[in-house]
Amino acid sequence: MGYTGTLRESLLRLESTRARRLEQEIPILTLSEKEQLIKRFHPDYRPGVKREIAVGVDEGESLPSELCDLLECTSLFDPDEIDLSDITRRVDVLVIGGGGGGATAAMFAREYGVDILLATKLRFGDSNTIMAEGGINACVSRGDSPMRYYIDTMGGGAFTNIPELVRALTMDSPRILKWLEDLGVPFDKEPDGTVPEATFRLGGGHSRPRVHSVGDYTGMAIMHTLRDELYNREIEVKEFSPAVDLLLDDGGRCTGAVLMDLETRRPLVVSAKKVILATGGLGRLHLQEMPTTNHYGATADGIVVAYRAGAKLIFLDSVQFHPTGTAYPEQLLGLLVSEGLRGRGAHLVNGDGERFINELETRDTVSAAIIREVRERDKGIVTPTGMTGVWLDVPVIDIVKGKGTVRRFLKHLHHRFMQYGIDIVQEPVLVYPAQHYQNGGCLCDDTGRSTVRNLYVVGEVAGGVHGRNRLGGNSLIDIFVFGRRAGIDAAEKCKHMDFGKLSLDHIRRHNQEVVDKGLDRGLRSPLLLPDYRYEKALTQIKQ
Ligand SMILES: Cc1cc2nc3c(=O)[nH]c(=O)nc-3n(C[C@H](O)[C@H](O)[C@H](O)COP(=O)(O)OP(=O)(O)OC[C@H]3O[C@@H](n4cnc5c(N)ncnc54)[C@H](O)[C@@H]3O)c2cc1C
Repeated sequence: MGYTGTLRESLLRLESTRARRLEQEIPILTLSEKEQLIKRFHPDYRPGVKREIAVGVDEGESLPSELCDLLECTSLFDPDEIDLSDITRRVDVLVIGGGGGGATAAMFAREYGVDILLATKLRFGDSNTIMAEGGINACVSRGDSPMRYYIDTMGGGAFTNIPELVRALTMDSPRILKWLEDLGVPFDKEPDGTVPEATFRLGGGHSRPRVHSVGDYTGMAIMHTLRDELYNREIEVKEFSPAVDLLLDDGGRCTGAVLMDLETRRPLVVSAKKVILATGGLGRLHLQEMPTTNHYGATADGIVVAYRAGAKLIFLDSVQFHPTGTAYPEQLLGLLVSEGLRGRGAHLVNGDGERFINELETRDTVSAAIIREVRERDKGIVTPTGMTGVWLDVPVIDIVKGKGTVRRFLKHLHHRFMQYGIDIVQEPVLVYPAQHYQNGGCLCDDTGRSTVRNLYVVGEVAGGVHGRNRLGGNSLIDIFVFGRRAGIDAAEKCKHMDFGKLSLDHIRRHNQEVVDKGLDRGLRSPLLLPDYRYEKALTQIKQ
């Protein structure tokens, strides 16, 4: 298939400016320039895309409308139809979510000899973690330190981040990298054991090289290793069993969860002393009808069940749109084109063949710059089906980093594009921002404890550490740092606890509030899976 006629013409223009672009230095924007750009063009600032939530502990806070819709629904199961005396399983620690955060929490909790169940919605490993491409950060290079890493992370989040969470993230990062290496994650190395220069690259917003990768399939390599370890340690995993609500006792402490057996659609009651929620993000809500990089299970379930149980939320009004989601071919719409390409030197180029932003600005800034290029300056490149984007000039990588770099480090992307006749060694790819990451989530402390007692939140479902903008490579380190901390804390504490009373009274109260406020539209949440059938399949994803 490859590129069509008009796209080829645009590519000729791009090639004619490549030599000049290689000499060009684009300065990093000042703080106020960045702010202005983001406020004018970042999707978070579009008018009418948020509203005040009308129910629950954060009533009145501004959130994306699509998320409000889910939080203002009644529950999937009618609490009066669930027999809470019919307990399917009683465990010390219930971990909900089978991605990297959940797996890590379960593994560390296991080291304390407690009984664990890991319940997940799809197959174990079906997650955003397994899709991670670019890599994981740890401050281990010469001249780097937790302090430098701390400042970069705070700066990336425009200093809105919760400081003690960033402290934990940056201080623990070296030990987590070592833990993963000791488990057997095959990070890229030269024959002498050093990190290849082209891997240990700078990511947007980082002042030191600190990315560790396994080609461009880092998440898959990590998730495979974790899965083996989880089974080696005989941790019980229950697949196709999503959590649909949490259980609380009279004092509002979390005492377990109601799961749904996806085969029978029947409820399963799990009683637990501690619950660790690691259900990931909300990409599949397609906020503002944008394409997404996320896996199919990213439907904000964790936020919904935690909120109904009384958990406070933070920064959920801020969403990360990754600057380089695929815009062509349409079959790959939203496929992440990792930041690692820009880190290795790829240029962002408009329809006139010009670079328009320093490619290593933070993601919010780069996304805003691309949208400005397309919307305001009308310098986007239009595909045959009406999508618009800008070029990411991938062939620059081999020129800057040496021939063979793309083939060596970007195998996954090379393969995906080759399936559609595009060879990224020789040809640029067309990109446009895609919904990628929920910067916020449930408020927690530095051991992952949420504002609901006995309920921990880990990974993308948690908020605070990244402030209003996450730096690349910081989510993978986040899920392992806080997975470890939550797993250990939950296991230690539950040794001195009894099982609590199980109740769904909070769900009755929530459902009543929805009805009383006239919000009941017959919809139920959590969503569990996105619906692409019928007319929804025909809805054009908007840019
Ligand atoms: C394409 C892509 C590339 C990325 N690349 C990078 C990168 O290079 N570096 C980086 O740092 N970050 C990257 N990220 C972000 C990072 O991968 C994720 O933020 C992180 O892995 C999230 O981990 P998690 O454990 O919190 O959630 P997930 O890995 O998404 O796991 C959540 C799990 O919970 C399950 N679940 C959902 N709802 C329920 C429910 N109701 N009940 C039970 N289980 C449920 C899901 O099925 C899933 O198994 C990338 C993300 C994507 C999408």
